[in-house]
Amino acid sequence: MKKTVSFSRDSANVFFHITTRCNLTCRHCYINRHQHGDETLPLETVETWLNLFARRSVKANIVFLGGEPTLHPELAPMIKKARKFGYDSITVDTNGFLFNNILSKVTPQEVDYFSFSLDGATAATNDMIRGAGSYTACTNGIRQAVNRGFSVSVIFTVSQANMHEIDLMGPLLTSLGVKRFFIQVIGIRGRSAANRTENLQVARNDWLGTVPAAAEEIARQGITVTFPKVFLEAGDRFECAGRVADNYFVFPNGRVYRCPLCEDFAMHSLMVDGNRLTEREPINENDLFQLDIPEGCVMNKLIQPDNLSYRPDGTPKYRIACCLLKEEITGY
Ligand code: SF4
Ligand code: SF4
Repeated sequence: MKKTVSFSRDSANVFFHITTRCNLTCRHCYINRHQHGDETLPLETVETWLNLFARRSVKANIVFLGGEPTLHPELAPMIKKARKFGYDSITVDTNGFLFNNILSKVTPQEVDYFSFSLDGATAATNDMIRGAGSYTACTNGIRQAVNRGFSVSVIFTVSQANMHEIDLMGPLLTSLGVKRFFIQVIGIRGRSAANRTENLQVARNDWLGTVPAAAEEIARQGITVTFPKVFLEAGDRFECAGRVADNYFVFPNGRVYRCPLCEDFAMHSLMVDGNRLTEREPINENDLFQLDIPEGCVMNKLIQPDNLSYRPDGTPKYRIACCLLKEEITGY
């Protein structure tokens, strides 16, 4: 069954970057230390901030990320604390190296998902994007997590460099015992924005001709697949998550964004200051969320306009969805 995952203010989603340190240097990494800091947050700070965000909503979900979050030697106590604070779901996003023996320090009851980033169905493609040895490390990490009884998902970021392998992901995920697959689209931010000569962005025809059908086929193999809408169709409603959802993208330097596409700029609308979450003065991302433009997403038009196309009279041929709008096909 296919459905659009609608935005909701009924629960908060907290994406907590506890460090920007990483052992890899992926070609499309969106971490920007100039904007996000290079601190690794101490345990006490993480606990204080976890408490702040848990209290923003009756229901809150947390994703621990980095950098590589398992490089943090105190990730396990952070996870346990998040459980105590009542987070509804706890996910750890990892590149698969699983440092500090993390799988033996937490249990499947404490972590809802370990989510592994894999950007190719073959070592050749994945390692060209994510670095030598990363395919083997990641697939080994997945096997270990599955063997220990953890729920495991895989994240695949589609770009010009790996789109040709998305069809091969179904059999690979099946062989690894993975039942949940998240497809993302390359964003022109972080390293992709710094290196504009390498165009990894995916054109509309390529995306529409490849991804929805591949997602359907992978779901047919019993895997639940989530992928971004990206290009709206004529009757689709445009919604900006910054207006209608409750998301927090939290960085070690205290910046808190509502929109991931804003993360290369000092456009954050919130800031953790001491032990308080404070709203920032305009101009910030909130001011952009209020703009209605015929192209749909304002930030898309500002930072990655190459995926737009116009008629001779200057009107856009289609609109770009919020980058957070997802379609989900339940495995069958
Ligand atoms: S994308 Fe993730 S794994 Fe790759 S360099 Fe960036 S933080 Fe590290
Ligand atoms: S990606 Fe675009 S539509 Fe989504 S929150 Fe950001 S500005 Fe709004």
